[in-house]
Amino acid sequence: MDREIRAILATITHPEAGENLVDGGFIDSITATEEKVTVALRFRKSRDPFAVKIKNRVEQTLTEKYPERVVTVFIKEGENSAAKRNEQIEDMHRHTTTSSVARVVAVASGKGGVGKSTVTSNLATALAKMGYKVGVLDADIYGPSQAKMFGVEDYLPDAVQVDGRDYIVPAEVGNIKIISIAMFIRPTDALLWRGTMANSALRQLIHQTAWGELDYLLIDLPPGTGDIHLSIISELKIDGAVIVSTPQQVAVADVVRGVEMFRNPNVNIPVLGVIENMAWFTPAELPNNRYYIFGEGGAAKYAESAGVDLLGQIPIIQAVMEGSDNGKPAAGTSAEIGEYYKQCGLKIVEKLMKIC
Ligand code: ADP
Repeated sequence: MDREIRAILATITHPEAGENLVDGGFIDSITATEEKVTVALRFRKSRDPFAVKIKNRVEQTLTEKYPERVVTVFIKEGENSAAKRNEQIEDMHRHTTTSSVARVVAVASGKGGVGKSTVTSNLATALAKMGYKVGVLDADIYGPSQAKMFGVEDYLPDAVQVDGRDYIVPAEVGNIKIISIAMFIRPTDALLWRGTMANSALRQLIHQTAWGELDYLLIDLPPGTGDIHLSIISELKIDGAVIVSTPQQVAVADVVRGVEMFRNPNVNIPVLGVIENMAWFTPAELPNNRYYIFGEGGAAKYAESAGVDLLGQIPIIQAVMEGSDNGKPAAGTSAEIGEYYKQCGLKIVEKLMKIC
């Protein structure tokens, strides 16, 4: 939302400065809700002759764009506090801890409940078993579950100071470092954290987590596509995206939209492929039978039509669910289950080697 408003404000130019309102640093703050849009404009010069004209123009443009909201525009004068904030953000980017991460992989899904978080934790476990140093960043603000899946839900991150800067210490399980937005919010706060607050918290997690050297950082994205995805994407270089889907969900609009989001020329993140989760069920008493409860071959068909690779298929296995519930990803405790995720992991490693 902020982004959209900024884009609109970037179309309005200060006649004397010759710069648009965003680039010229005229935006002090933007607050947007379902009912209201409030913008504070800041003019460094006191009694800027263009201030009122620009204020009216911003009001008119935003009212046309958001007729159902109350638009208020303020004028402030003097030094720009937003400029100071921007400086702090730039400083964060300059000292980002992700510079010691070799490859960043986003794990996405069209909808919630398809097993995206389960795949992320098991994939991380499989990669760690292969000898890689792995990090997991749980950015799923709508249902952060990585801390629980790794059994570190009571972990309270410490801050360490290095050269006068604060860094956040991630939880560590085996060869895997985990940081989650859930470690910074109470479950009841979750809804409040959508939007601006979640964005700034995630920005801190992205740039200030003390990852050390990592081979792979997996980011558990929120389901679907939205502003939060765009801001994560703009914060760090993501080397590839993995889409998790169940067989019946794979060709539906949500997944297609997800793939398109990464492929959008402004985003341009390679889609490494699709992992089909809950592909079939094999009952213990009939070990040679596969029941395709949610349909058969959906992911393979979609993958072919969309020009995306099928990275692997994971069946419905009770131990996978139990592993997540008990804080021990099943890929680490069962060789048979580990193999499914290892195969996906190998394909991801191989594809990243080719494109990076
Ligand atoms: P998402 O992150 O997409 O919302 P989750 O990873 O939380 O989905 O998974 C949703 C539920 O499905 C969880 O209870 C999880 O344990 C279960 N689940 C996921 N994958 C499997 C699987 N392959 N076999 C059995 N249960 C699974």
